[in-house]
Amino acid sequence: MFGANSIGRGPGRRTRDAIIPPVNYCSRCGREVGRKIPPGDNRERFVCGHCGAIHYQNPRIVTGCLPLWEGRVLLCRRAIEPRRGLWTLPAGFLEVGETVEAGALRETWEEARARVELLGLYTLFSVPHISQVHMFFRGSLVDGEFAVGDESLDVCLFDEHAVPWDELAFPVVGKTLQHYFTDRAGAGRFPVHTEDIVVERR
Ligand SMILES: [Zn+2]
Repeated sequence: MFGANSIGRGPGRRTRDAIIPPVNYCSRCGREVGRKIPPGDNRERFVCGHCGAIHYQNPRIVTGCLPLWEGRVLLCRRAIEPRRGLWTLPAGFLEVGETVEAGALRETWEEARARVELLGLYTLFSVPHISQVHMFFRGSLVDGEFAVGDESLDVCLFDEHAVPWDELAFPVVGKTLQHYFTDRAGAGRFPVHTEDIVVERR
């Protein structure tokens, strides 16, 4: 989840709102690219001065799961940076050609060695300062079994009172857990929650 490739290599170029990962060379012809506004467009793109290829950049999608079993939630302690050693929900970048549901199932298997039946989309976050969209599905463990996956140091089921709130890796994880416990204690319905994660850059 949120690996080192999340916003590209190098310092990137800052706009008022976000970091734009740099493109240095054309992936079609290998020459250097520059920034310009293509005809008919309204914002700068990386454009190859040799072959004319326009290298569009668009937000990336992170898909994941809130795995549930007998009233408890399954969390993974991260074995990789960033936020190594902190707890997270299984999630990661959507792969090319993959549905968001399949991505959530795959990440849950890779990080927690758990099989889940998805119960529907639950939280959806825009994270514009890093040009990402994060989504979590509620999921029920199929057989209650799980184990430590390659990207995890530990995987555990937590009761609400035992959730390590001060050791969660990402705001979207805490917000998803808070929504879940609040909804469960209330009407017992789990509508989709949408939210923006806004971080002001200085
Ligand atoms: Zn080119």
